[in-house]
Amino acid sequence: MSKVKIPVAAPLITGKELEYVKECINSGWISSQSNYVNEFESRFANFCQCEYGVTTNSGTTALHLALSTLNIGSYDEVIIPTFTMIATPNSVMYTGAKPVLVDSEVNHWNIDVNKIEKQITKKTKAIILVHTYGHPVDIDPILELAKDYNLYVIEDAAEAHGAEYKGKKIGSFGHISCFSFYANKIITTGEGGILVTKDKELAERAKWLRAHAFGKDGKHFHHEELGFGYRMSALQAAFGLGQLDSIENFVDSKRNNAKLYKDLLNNLSISNKIILQSEASWAKNVYWMFSILTTDSTPISRNQLMDNLASDGIETRTFFYPIHTQPTYSNLNKTHNFPISEYLSKSGINLPSGNNLTVKNIEYICDKINNYLK
Ligand SMILES: *Cc1c(COP(=O)(O)O)cnc(C)c1O
Repeated sequence: MSKVKIPVAAPLITGKELEYVKECINSGWISSQSNYVNEFESRFANFCQCEYGVTTNSGTTALHLALSTLNIGSYDEVIIPTFTMIATPNSVMYTGAKPVLVDSEVNHWNIDVNKIEKQITKKTKAIILVHTYGHPVDIDPILELAKDYNLYVIEDAAEAHGAEYKGKKIGSFGHISCFSFYANKIITTGEGGILVTKDKELAERAKWLRAHAFGKDGKHFHHEELGFGYRMSALQAAFGLGQLDSIENFVDSKRNNAKLYKDLLNNLSISNKIILQSEASWAKNVYWMFSILTTDSTPISRNQLMDNLASDGIETRTFFYPIHTQPTYSNLNKTHNFPISEYLSKSGINLPSGNNLTVKNIEYICDKINNYLK
């Protein structure tokens, strides 16, 4: 029998993407100076219950632009979870500020709210929340802390388009929130990103910095601040409008897929051979990457399980390596312990979760897992 090959994440491009891109080409306006960009920005911002959207050429540059828009730079500190993708701390480093790491909580794998306050100093300017694998952070206590200490809150929502906290859309809580449209994210523009905000002045400043901070009052090539070349092209925005038509469907299908995974792996969860990704009562998890943890009772090691899946044509991923274990960040926070992040990193597996995943795929994957862990 031929081997099936199920990728860990692949996009689904079956809407009007091509039609919109053709229209865009025919319009002759393919740079960022196009209505496709404006329309994509306002529609995505609207989806996030925000007034303003500023597209960028990646999720990473959206984060860097957000920090720069808030004037965060040298001598400042920004609190982030150590359990995150490398772009989160990198965006802080690009500004000259220092990322300060906090461990995660064990239930939803997000920053541990109870461990943040100890890390706040006079230099702290902002907290970046990461909604890990699509599960929202418990935001209210963090907003309170931020208020008490006069800190900005930035949501890194690169993995959580459409997720909700207490019935409101993720992205609508931070002073600025950032999303990625990389090909494996919930919707894609190939490469790309956006920041959304409810604050008109922040949006205008972000737009200005995004495109070289050109001079105002007729002095176009006169620059009073360090700007960036972070624009998204109209071709990408046109493609993104096609994806945006389907965003509710993508989110629904991710949630349905997660439910099916949970049903089919329930026995292994009951016997504690694996731990399934959870959803808090106050959360709408969009399960960007449906994930499991191995335990002391798992009959084989995490790596062995991944190898077995690979030999049956099923691609998986390990979890993130925490930032404090990354060679590029070896000088940070050596004195702290991050036991939960290390535990998650050693135990976790992202299972196939792309928008093109089928019910048959999930049945096949769970059948294999049930077999290996019998
Ligand atoms: C994907 C991702 C990013 C970066 O997005 P790019 O578009 O790849 O630059 C940032 N933060 C998190 C948590 C991500 O998962």
